[in-house]
Amino acid sequence: MSRVIAIFNQKGGVGKTTTAMNVSGYFAILGKKTLLIDFDPQYNTTIGLGVIHEPSETIYHALLAGQQIDKVIKRTYLARLDVVPASQDLAGALVELIEVPDRESLLKKFIDRIRDQYDFILVDLGPTVNLLTVNGLMAADEVVIPVQCEYYSLEGIPQLLDTVHLIRENLGHPLKISGALLTMYDKREKLSRDIAREIRKRFPYKVYDVEIPRSVALAESPRFQKPIMLYAPQSPGAIAYEELAKEIIRGDENQKEYIIPPKRDVFETISSHPYVEKTYEYDYGTYTPAINIKSEEIKKEIIEEEISSDIREPLVLMIHEEGDFKDFFDSLTPERK
Ligand code: ATP
Ligand code: MG
Repeated sequence: MSRVIAIFNQKGGVGKTTTAMNVSGYFAILGKKTLLIDFDPQYNTTIGLGVIHEPSETIYHALLAGQQIDKVIKRTYLARLDVVPASQDLAGALVELIEVPDRESLLKKFIDRIRDQYDFILVDLGPTVNLLTVNGLMAADEVVIPVQCEYYSLEGIPQLLDTVHLIRENLGHPLKISGALLTMYDKREKLSRDIAREIRKRFPYKVYDVEIPRSVALAESPRFQKPIMLYAPQSPGAIAYEELAKEIIRGDENQKEYIIPPKRDVFETISSHPYVEKTYEYDYGTYTPAINIKSEEIKKEIIEEEISSDIREPLVLMIHEEGDFKDFFDSLTPERK
């Protein structure tokens, strides 16, 4: 039974295309017949793998211009790896799709016609949430979410999970989150290590064991139109993507049971401070500390950016404590929860 995996994060430049290209390559090397579909109007996968095709031989043409399927499936330098290219035309599909019946499931129909020929079909999505993304997610059985180890990476996660939940609940498609993947990880940098730890702690689904290191070879290989195993097979990035491919093939073992938690619920307030309450927001299974200012007058002061020292200190203290909030929450007695 083949597996269709969308590589999704609406945040740009987090390593989706790098992951799609290189994991696909290793699936092929590990003996799995693999198809990689470029479903991003930026067509970076198509460029990065040097796919040669006629202008009318792209995913857009197969979906909306009557092109035959076998014309858009292209072979690559790797045995067992095929690619369906994209081009800028795909941007136009956004407008055309609106008119089409079943506009959310055109890609799914395309994939359904060929999925029995492959062990894995990967879909590389662009950095947006639009009808193309919805098509990619509706066509997939599971999503892999690359998350870059940088300061703002956690911020987009609630929105990303919202999109997946919308696909499940509103469109009735049982899409599974296979896991988040830490990318551009630099083990020498404390910030990178701290962020990786924080994502492992807070992300409510599996986080892959392997971390993809920041690696020059990974950034360079698209310039040579090759996946990493044909460009620098001994590099740390290559080794990490091979490990990831194996981890994905192993699949569900040790998968956290996923329950859809209530969307957002403020349910804990702990503070004896006269001005400040520390609250915990429960958001898709993660606990996020929030600070509630009790006094309207002080709120006004903060808005006016004239924070007096007696409020600034507890605020700083609470922000400082953030890292331990979950352990603290876990230590509470059930009544207090
Ligand atoms: P977009 O959202 O625009 O589609 P993306 O999420 O597909 O972007 P990539 O194109 O894979 O992201 O990566 C963004 C940039 O970072 C590229 O220049 C890529 O070569 C580089 N890059 C990706 N992963 C790594 C890595 N592990 N080490 C070094 N550079 C990387
Ligand atoms: Mg990309």
